[in-house]
Amino acid sequence: MAGQYYIETYGCQMNLADSQLVAGLLNDSGFARTDDMAAAQIILLNTCAIREKAEETVLNRLDALAHLKRKDPSVLIGVLGCMAQNLADSLLESHPFVDIILGPDSYRRLPQMLAQRTQEMDHIVDTRLSRHEVYEDLFPARETGLNAWISIMRGCDKFCTFCVVPYTRGRERSRSLESVVAEAAQAVADGFVEMTLLGQNVNSYHHEGSRFPQLLEAVAGVDGVRRIRFTSPHPSDVDADMLRVMAAQENICSSVHLPLQAGADRTLRRMQRTYTRAEYLKLVDRIRAALPDVGLTTDIIVGFPGETEADFEETLEVMEQVRFDSAFMFKYSLRPGTKAANYSSHVDEQEKQRRLEAVIAMQKESTLMRNRALTGQVAEVLVERESKKSPLQWAGRTDSNKLVVFDREDALLGDFVQVKIDGSHGVTLQGHIVNTVESYHAVA
Ligand code: SF4
Repeated sequence: MAGQYYIETYGCQMNLADSQLVAGLLNDSGFARTDDMAAAQIILLNTCAIREKAEETVLNRLDALAHLKRKDPSVLIGVLGCMAQNLADSLLESHPFVDIILGPDSYRRLPQMLAQRTQEMDHIVDTRLSRHEVYEDLFPARETGLNAWISIMRGCDKFCTFCVVPYTRGRERSRSLESVVAEAAQAVADGFVEMTLLGQNVNSYHHEGSRFPQLLEAVAGVDGVRRIRFTSPHPSDVDADMLRVMAAQENICSSVHLPLQAGADRTLRRMQRTYTRAEYLKLVDRIRAALPDVGLTTDIIVGFPGETEADFEETLEVMEQVRFDSAFMFKYSLRPGTKAANYSSHVDEQEKQRRLEAVIAMQKESTLMRNRALTGQVAEVLVERESKKSPLQWAGRTDSNKLVVFDREDALLGDFVQVKIDGSHGVTLQGHIVNTVESYHAVA
């Protein structure tokens, strides 16, 4: 055995999927994964650069790892992912004990680098971005569970002015449809019933004439795939074909994450979001017409440079009009190297905080309103885990991605059960089982 490695993941689901990919690569090269950091000879942090706070978290974590390196200099510490790509030089200046820095397109070289690093003293840095790397032939080492993350495309060509992703993850490229279908079939064989298709801009997937709707249809046709989700789509790439396929295929969940970011056309233009407020609202109507029970979620950024009070009010107006089921809401975070970093009129921190609290309050009202409307309805729920509040209850999600908590009765993890919604506590729905639809006890 080449040694034990420990991997810690920060940020989005793409990073979770990438950590599984790295684990697969290392396992195939004779390394063994451990969940005990103290026992590991290799410690890897798979990092996120989307917001300043995410970077600070990793830097603090690295500070805490310094003592391990002092105690045992043979322990190898590696920084992977978006921060590695974004901050390679300054990372080495501030944390010179880091051995390996590897950007998201360089993971194939990791086993070789680990071997090399044990023989050499120099730091190893590889942050070359590729126009082709999609890790097509590699199979991720998934832990057991019900949901398999399947990365279908990488990178982004949209260049929203606030976002660092096109710089850290490079240009868009997609895997072949056949390789995604093969991975879904393998995941089913391994006991997974839900597939979440991942990409920075998932619905701009395109490979040799196949686009996202064709890929969705092909994965929906894989035997044993009970649920398909995907994230994160861009509103400009949602088209009639995608909605038609979603409506026609029962196993594609009726849930769409549709990042709005801001409600004012002026801000959307400065963000380079490629849609207007009116186009976004029209798209919401089209989605709801095609998928009447759809769960609609979004991302909101408040305090983008130059956002006036009137602009911000427009964000609240759109939120009030759409009434999203839930939302991820953030204060604008300046990312060096992006276009918006050079914009003038940055909004001060206190004002950003006030706006954030206002959108959170608005969203809370919408979530409660949407949840209340479900009371009395029966929804199919996948039993995913024990409820955080009580070991006597299960938690799982509806097709529209709502979290429901209910008494266990005879249900087991992996069952699909019909749950009658009795009400909601905060953002979580409460219900009781009325019927078990299907059992997948093998995955418990
Ligand atoms: S679409 Fe915009 S926000 Fe999303 S990853 Fe690409 S640049 Fe970033």
